[in-house]
Amino acid sequence: MTDGVLTFNAGSSSLKFALFACRSGVIEPLFRGQLEDLDEDPRFLVADATGRRIVDQDLGQLRPGAWTHSEALAHLLHWIDAHDDDLVLRAIGHRVVHGGEPFVAPVIVDEAVVDAIEALTVLAPLHQPASIAPIRALAALRPALPQVACFDTAFHATLDPVERTFAIGADLRAHGVRRFGFHGLSYEYIASELPARIGALAEGRVLVAHLGNGASMCAMHGRRSRATTMGFTALDGLMMGTRCGALDPGAVLHLLRHAGLDAATLERKLYREAGLLGVSGLSHDMRTLLASSAPAAALAVDIYCHRIVREVGSLAAAIGGIDALVFTAGIGENAAPVRARVVDAIGWMGLQLDARANESGASCITTTDSRVPAFVIPTNEEAVVARHTLALAL
Ligand code: ADP
Repeated sequence: MTDGVLTFNAGSSSLKFALFACRSGVIEPLFRGQLEDLDEDPRFLVADATGRRIVDQDLGQLRPGAWTHSEALAHLLHWIDAHDDDLVLRAIGHRVVHGGEPFVAPVIVDEAVVDAIEALTVLAPLHQPASIAPIRALAALRPALPQVACFDTAFHATLDPVERTFAIGADLRAHGVRRFGFHGLSYEYIASELPARIGALAEGRVLVAHLGNGASMCAMHGRRSRATTMGFTALDGLMMGTRCGALDPGAVLHLLRHAGLDAATLERKLYREAGLLGVSGLSHDMRTLLASSAPAAALAVDIYCHRIVREVGSLAAAIGGIDALVFTAGIGENAAPVRARVVDAIGWMGLQLDARANESGASCITTTDSRVPAFVIPTNEEAVVARHTLALAL
């Protein structure tokens, strides 16, 4: 019998999962997949460890209409049980976006922990409920199976007060308003990979750009978070697929007071209708924008790269320089033109792009005589969740 660990990364209408085998304390990926579009057109997708699609099932054919998390998860658990009789599911791990003040490390989930995670919903209104739904559904479906929550904020627990405190009065700070930082599971994975990938530089001043649909940057020193672009919420910092990133708080006040918008409408516009989508008016997807000849698409990509360049300068200043730059996540790993523009723009900091390496998918994308090297390192948040789950629950 082989021990299995299942991990979840929940979005608002989709649930990404990954299944790992645990042998002698080491995790090995078996499958990854997605329960997607549960509200409209539910599908169940699974790929094996090589990325080959082995299931693409239209759940609407089994039962038409929207599927609840509970139904979709029951379907997945049944598939796992039926697919491999040698595997015994021993624990489940979850990516949870916000750990707030209380959670600075992964925890085993019990009722009190779920309540405490739920109490943080006000800090991440669009993300936190999505994390809680599968935890509750799985607790009901498989009450004996331990569940572990891993928090995207936890990696940034090392931020100094000067980095995490905003310049507002104590009365406002008393509402819990401070910099938390996000994408911590991705940064933790990259930090764990750095020694093998970049050698002695790993312990130096490394800027990591996590550029997915959400995007942020983290300045590490000694493989710990010292500064980061996201703040109190995952809306701050870089321009993103549909989120605005840093925006003058005076603009928010103006829009609330003078544009006839209520808070809920403005929230939707800044989280879901801004960023690459808002500027281009075309798409949130970098592939679409890079392929488009529309001037608004070009402007969106220009702003996207410019904002990264500005933050590189800010983060490097915050930690006293830069020894290496790392790109990761969907855009960071795949969009060579974005990487090229960023590296070219910060050439004055000692980076020299190797255009051929950048376009051919190499790990190091700078020339051998570049004083500061830049790398592409694929992230793996699921592996971090699986490792923590294994350590806490088995
Ligand atoms: P999420 O934050 O949802 O996990 P990903 O890390 O998968 O998102 O990143 C999604 C982004 O990566 C999208 O903007 C997508 O266009 C971009 N992307 C993926 N592949 C490519 C590619 N080959 N070229 C350019 N952009 C890409």
